[in-house]
Amino acid sequence: MDKVGETTLVLDLSALEHNFHYLRSKIAPTTKFMAVVKAFAYGSDMVAIAKKLESLGVDYFAVAYVGEGSLLRNAGIKTPILVLHPLAVNFEEMIDRCLEPNIYSLKILEQFVSAAKTKNQENYPIHIKFNTGLNRLGFKKVDIDVLVSHLKGSKELKVVSTFSHLAASEDPDEKAFSNNQINSFLALSDELSQELVHIPMRHMLNTSGIINYPEAQFEMVRSGIGLYGYGNEAAVDAELKPIATLKTIISQIHEIPANESVGYNRAFKSERARKTATLPIGHADGIGRQYGKGKASVLIHGKKAPIIGNVCMDMIMVDVTDIDCAEGDEVIVFGPESSAEQFASSAQTISYEILTAISQRVKRLVLNP
Ligand SMILES: *Cc1c(COP(=O)(O)O)cnc(C)c1O
Repeated sequence: MDKVGETTLVLDLSALEHNFHYLRSKIAPTTKFMAVVKAFAYGSDMVAIAKKLESLGVDYFAVAYVGEGSLLRNAGIKTPILVLHPLAVNFEEMIDRCLEPNIYSLKILEQFVSAAKTKNQENYPIHIKFNTGLNRLGFKKVDIDVLVSHLKGSKELKVVSTFSHLAASEDPDEKAFSNNQINSFLALSDELSQELVHIPMRHMLNTSGIINYPEAQFEMVRSGIGLYGYGNEAAVDAELKPIATLKTIISQIHEIPANESVGYNRAFKSERARKTATLPIGHADGIGRQYGKGKASVLIHGKKAPIIGNVCMDMIMVDVTDIDCAEGDEVIVFGPESSAEQFASSAQTISYEILTAISQRVKRLVLNP
């Protein structure tokens, strides 16, 4: 892979294509596919990812906030976009940019109807979210009557889908709970659909849901992490290809005599002599302090070099005592050869967190767009 002279997130979109086809192969050809590209496409490059997926024929995009949807529209993305967590302050922008809201409460429904009226909308696409156990956003059974009466009185809106979200789709120990969520979603969707002129699509499954509950794919699925190459379990990881490789270089090498310390607060001390390498990447780039003090390692010439001492804002120091390396050599923080999931688990977190943490300061290099 390409040599980089600075900290760079290399994004291989041929891996994205592979993951998309893999996930599609797990569902029926008629089931629609919504690609979740919130948070800069899980910390990668939202526009590059969305363009590639649009060219591959994805049916829908999902983002968390209106601003993210506007960035996609500015880039020329034409595919429908669901905004998972719309806030009333952005409703005019939302309508101007043809972004479709998740309607999760009566309050947000009333606020959206009023914005749609102001903008003279008719049949504006909306998505109704049911809370089936995650207890995050969504309507419950007790809300349905009032919801229906509001919807019947609002020619401004058209319900194009109903959806819900599994709380533990990756966890086999929670199968009973997940099946219960699926059944309540079906019942709630039916109850609402009976009252509507157009039957909305239904969607419930995220990446691990696609793998573990394909019988609940209904008319659409929503996948994020799987597209980026992680599947929340080893067997799925083996089928997917991480799209991102976080690379950096060695800025300086130090021979440290015994009994000296390295870094802030003198957090690393060694009784014996060591060789250390300083790398131009720190917590401002997304490598949080929890990865320091020996927890996580980077790869240099295929060998593990642990991060020693405290992570600084713009640098980390790694132990290269037993590695033959030089200033300017390439370093891999994570990628296909040493996964973001492994890196994350060394500090008790998950791939989602380390991927989305990679800050906008880090250069993105897109291969195979
Ligand atoms: C983020 C998100 C997803 C994507 O989940 P993955 O586990 O990344 O596939 C799907 N649905 C909702 C509602 C989400 O918030």
